Amino acid sequence: MENEQKPPKIQVGSFTIAFLTDGLWLNDGGCMFGVVPRELWKKDHPPDPQNRIRLNLTCPLIIRGNQAVLVDTGIGNRLRDVERKIFGHQDGWLPEGLAALGMEPGDITHVVLTHLHFDHCGGVVRRDPAHAFRAAFPRARYVVQRGELETARSSSNERLRAAYRHASECLEPIGSQLELIEGDTTIIAGVQALVTGGHTTDHQIVLVQDGQAAFVHLADIVPTRSHMKGPWNQSYDLDALTTMERKAHYLERAIMERWWISFAHDDQIFSAHVDREAGKLLLQDVVSVPPNLARRTAPLRAE
Ligand SMILES: [Zn+2]
Repeated sequence: MENEQKPPKIQVGSFTIAFLTDGLWLNDGGCMFGVVPRELWKKDHPPDPQNRIRLNLTCPLIIRGNQAVLVDTGIGNRLRDVERKIFGHQDGWLPEGLAALGMEPGDITHVVLTHLHFDHCGGVVRRDPAHAFRAAFPRARYVVQRGELETARSSSNERLRAAYRHASECLEPIGSQLELIEGDTTIIAGVQALVTGGHTTDHQIVLVQDGQAAFVHLADIVPTRSHMKGPWNQSYDLDALTTMERKAHYLERAIMERWWISFAHDDQIFSAHVDREAGKLLLQDVVSVPPNLARRTAPLRAE
């Protein structure tokens, strides 16, 4: 196995949080930073000749006792060859990451999907050697906002239909395991799904709290460290003003209450504490993405 390094972990009260990744991938920098000019984002996110930047597919795994809550599932192994080339992604590394923790897919009890875009829900299924799709986590309850599912299944809007064109392929094999929630919901004691909207109308994040200790996965309202800045938002956001308001709210709480935060797509940082100095946000206690992950992915170059 190439990826022998164990996923990094943090302790949040009695919870252990392991930072799994479904791999690094490439996506258009302009799509990732919306109204922010390329001249400003290219220093920290150097684009390749096709304007793609390197991104992560971070999936925190929240473990306590025999409960194991996975947040999002990355892209998985379902992409066709042409899409694999476009996104610089192959089979997805979640199974390897779990194995490195001494766990297997059947150990996952819950999968919380922040939303149903392909880079978050693609890994709910695995394509088997006969090219059939089956649930990637056979014993898990897959938790999703009812509104998000309804948008994915039935929107007639052209842009939304394109954003969810993979949805039936992903959702049909897990149909009996789907659990629909409406609004803020406790998943297991100490782990909550909180609706933010912004990126999608029903986008949710996951907050873990035990006593004074807390961790929040900000998913696609703060997908990289650069998106901590107010106006730095993805052009995918359906309501960027809501994204700005919600991320300001949660970053402030993270500063005041000393929460760990994590990002869905940062290629260098899994998690950190956040503080403010002279009006600027800065990260402390950084949990870095191991450099061997970067070496496994396609280098940034023209095809
Ligand atoms: Zn995303």
